[in-house]
Amino acid sequence: MDYQSLIRDIPDFPKPGIIFKDITPLLANAEALDAVIKDMAAPFKDQKIDLVVGIESRGFIFGPGVARQLGCGFAPVRKPGKLPYHTHSLTYDLEYGTDTLEIHVDAVVKDHRVLIIDDLLATGGTAEAAGKLIAKIDGIVVGFGFVIELGFLNGREKLGNTQVESLINYT
Ligand code: AMP
Repeated sequence: MDYQSLIRDIPDFPKPGIIFKDITPLLANAEALDAVIKDMAAPFKDQKIDLVVGIESRGFIFGPGVARQLGCGFAPVRKPGKLPYHTHSLTYDLEYGTDTLEIHVDAVVKDHRVLIIDDLLATGGTAEAAGKLIAKIDGIVVGFGFVIELGFLNGREKLGNTQVESLINYT
């Protein structure tokens, strides 16, 4: 499936110099949406995944579909102050300043096998932080799945030996 033709480049969004990868044309295409979810789940079919974790916000679009493919549940990782129940959090460094991710304290059962999903891997900072958050609460991060990888940013190097899968790689 030619996903790449369904990803729209938006120059200078949300800031000058950033080429935003807009996935909404892909989401609007029934055949592509179905295929993308199946293709994201496929490499993890035999990995005995117990839980899919999606990163705010576009990880919430793909994560639950992937979870259904793998026969497991879904949990959101969110920006601070969004989750209603007690949370664990992790603060990580950005180019300028810091950011924080949160997850509900009861989202991950100890030693459960977790797959982390987001739409796009850029520098890897967000995915790395989500992985550390899951590890901190005793989940096992089995892999990371993305629709798009900006390979030229080498984000996967931040994710160590963990399995990293993407459907489109801009090298
Ligand atoms: P990073 O932490 O640098 O890997 O950035 C990944 C996060 O930022 C993901 O949640 C993406 O949705 C978002 N993101 C970063 N760069 C882009 C981009 N060029 N287009 C769309 N989303 C992006």
